[in-house]
Amino acid sequence: MTGSTAASFTADDYRARMERAARTAAEAGLAGLLVAPGPDLVWLTGYTPPAVTERLTLLVLAAGQDPVLVVPALEAPDARKAAGAPALTLRDWTDGKDPYAATAALLDASGRFGISDNAWALHLLALQQAVPGSSYASLTEALPMLRAVKDAAELELMAAAGAAADATFEEIRNVPFAGRRESEVAADLDRLLRRHGHEQVDFTIVASGPNGADPHHEAGGRVIERGDMVVLDFGGLKDGYGSDTSRTVHVGEPTDEERRVHDIVRAAQEAGFRAVRPGAACQDVDRAARAVIADAGYGAYFIHRTGHGIGVTTHEPPYMIEGEERLLVPGMCFSVEPGVYLPGRFGVRIEDIVTVTEDGGRRLNTTTRELVIVE
Ligand code: ZN
Ligand code: ZN
Ligand code: ZN
Repeated sequence: MTGSTAASFTADDYRARMERAARTAAEAGLAGLLVAPGPDLVWLTGYTPPAVTERLTLLVLAAGQDPVLVVPALEAPDARKAAGAPALTLRDWTDGKDPYAATAALLDASGRFGISDNAWALHLLALQQAVPGSSYASLTEALPMLRAVKDAAELELMAAAGAAADATFEEIRNVPFAGRRESEVAADLDRLLRRHGHEQVDFTIVASGPNGADPHHEAGGRVIERGDMVVLDFGGLKDGYGSDTSRTVHVGEPTDEERRVHDIVRAAQEAGFRAVRPGAACQDVDRAARAVIADAGYGAYFIHRTGHGIGVTTHEPPYMIEGEERLLVPGMCFSVEPGVYLPGRFGVRIEDIVTVTEDGGRRLNTTTRELVIVE
């Protein structure tokens, strides 16, 4: 992760996030949170270590206790520059000293802690040894909604990332498709996303013809032909916040069936979007989109959930899936991306990022959802 959100948020913003995280952890019965370098640390402190190494960097959050960032001494000067640094205490440790003993001194000896999913086993094992009475839970499982609700400044960054992805689509629809490899179009997508301000590109799916029937097909060596449907799905991080959009285009004139399937997916995407409002359940969004595809007879060919959350990463909770009864809250951001995948033939997916407003939803992607004909 190379994104820096330091310019956008103040120490007070980070202080509020850390306080809320500690409070939410306490409400969930946890003695605190142990946050390793990664998206949660960036979101809570604005700090991205210069490189993630075997040296321990760990944010310790506990209710009623000031946040402490345990950090290797040689990286402390960088940590001090993070926008959130004024809101926390830095505890640096030098090589040859035991960082786990220093961390242990901050922990409730019999507490249960939420720890970042991506924390190294090396560190967790050492902490378990240093604090034998402690126990640990996955931070994402314990507090899945920690980063889900975006504030106004975050929503602005999300909208800007969406607009950059849209600008990318407006350009890619004019490049030649027929006769070029998927990987060449994918390289165009990567270049355009970066030109429109993305510092990180997470995926550039170009799935032509039969490859479109595989939802996670990576762009490969297949040469795109006239007559192909082509699923484009691309996104990454701009100023630390995520974009993710899919459009399906056709090279030359489509058949009636291709048009019909595209119309069905477009209607499903619209139905999913219209189900977005505060108080609706995540699964209602999935049900609304899925019903349209099932009613049209293609239910067996919609083989994934309807959506996923997005924020400082491009895939995170909440998930729009049957069985997810969590309620939508204003400020949540997630994808609505139904698809139909016909094995050996073609696929169609249409995806917008949507944010929950006070009375409905707002699309952060606004390029046409009609079937675009490319050359
Ligand atoms: Zn075709
Ligand atoms: Zn996508
Ligand atoms: Zn997506």
